[in-house]
Amino acid sequence: MKITSPIPYGKQYISEDDLNAVQEVLRSTHLTQGPKIQEFEEKFAAYIGAAYAVATSNGTASLHLCTMALNVKNGQKVITTPITFAASANCVRYCGGEVVFADIDPQTYLLDISSVEKLLEAASPGTYAGIIPVDFAGRAVNLEAFKQLATKYNLWIIEDACHAPGGYFIDSKGNKQLCGNGKFADLSIFSFHPVKHIACGEGGMVTTNNLELFKQLNRLRSHGITKGDDQYINSKDFAAGIANAADFPGWYMEMQQLGYNYRLTDIQAALGISQLTRADQGLERRRAIAANYFNAFNEKPFVLNQSGVVEGHAYHLYILEVENRLGLYNYLRQHNIYAQIHYIPCHLMPYYRQQGWNEGDLPNAEAYYRHCISLPMYPTLTDLEQEFVIDTINKFYHA
Ligand SMILES: *Cc1c(COP(=O)(O)O)cnc(C)c1O
Repeated sequence: MKITSPIPYGKQYISEDDLNAVQEVLRSTHLTQGPKIQEFEEKFAAYIGAAYAVATSNGTASLHLCTMALNVKNGQKVITTPITFAASANCVRYCGGEVVFADIDPQTYLLDISSVEKLLEAASPGTYAGIIPVDFAGRAVNLEAFKQLATKYNLWIIEDACHAPGGYFIDSKGNKQLCGNGKFADLSIFSFHPVKHIACGEGGMVTTNNLELFKQLNRLRSHGITKGDDQYINSKDFAAGIANAADFPGWYMEMQQLGYNYRLTDIQAALGISQLTRADQGLERRRAIAANYFNAFNEKPFVLNQSGVVEGHAYHLYILEVENRLGLYNYLRQHNIYAQIHYIPCHLMPYYRQQGWNEGDLPNAEAYYRHCISLPMYPTLTDLEQEFVIDTINKFYHA
């Protein structure tokens, strides 16, 4: 078949309804801090099954708000996976904490709980503050198991669920546990970058079932400013600028801690709300595309491993592990197919090498990186385009 435009590994889908939703905000009085933010938060929390959600300017800001809210301090150690986007680790560094990478499970590509347990067993109590598991590629981490470990060692959990809105795992009682539902992780974070499931341009969310953390995230998102009589530290007299004031005046607010401007705009929130109405449809299409890839590559001799068909997988990415990965990558580009590599292991980035990490430290992650390639995966990928991708890969291997 003839492919007229390049096929990327991921892309957003903007509908007429999306355009109308954004236009409506642009014609309204609030471009930011208006009603769309709270509406998006409430609808997203309901979709994910969490009690509370806080909209933020992007996924990285979400992560930073979480490490601040959990009081990550200088020198504290936090465990995460090396096979993720750097932000999952960097949020620890923003607060002066130390990142400790643990290896992945070569079958699932997720943070390997037994490597985490080994680190915890070997350390003196209090060495580690928390764990940041990542629902990598859209495959849900078994957070029930991580929660047991976290409870035993008195650690918090931040779930990086950027790849997995709508993803779930099955718990020990046979129940579905949606990524970000707050049952096991203290805080979960999402990104609305255009390659993710829901596109806001830039945007993020934190979900939690913890009311205190929810309040803290809200303050930190907006400069640490508090507006509410019951929370003020200063006296009414001082606030009014006179003695014996009966009330706090209307203008009064307090900056009680150091926060940031990590707010989302109403323009972006309106786009997010509109996109959320199609989230399940998109997920269904991603799962169908994954099933096609699995059937095409199952038992092909050049395939070492693949994402496969896994219940609850949200398929942000569909990954093959292959021989001659570089050859395949270049061949696909020659044929207008822009596959991608997720990820170069974080611990081998120059920044983390400077902190003492080296090749050989995490053998499973490094072996995975040598062979992995992410195939085109997005809801508007057509059957014909997917067939072209599959045929081109088979042609490269003469399979
Ligand atoms: C995209 C992503 C982030 C960061 O999100 P931004 O919105 O780009 O800041 C963090 N973690 C993972 C796993 C991601 O894929």
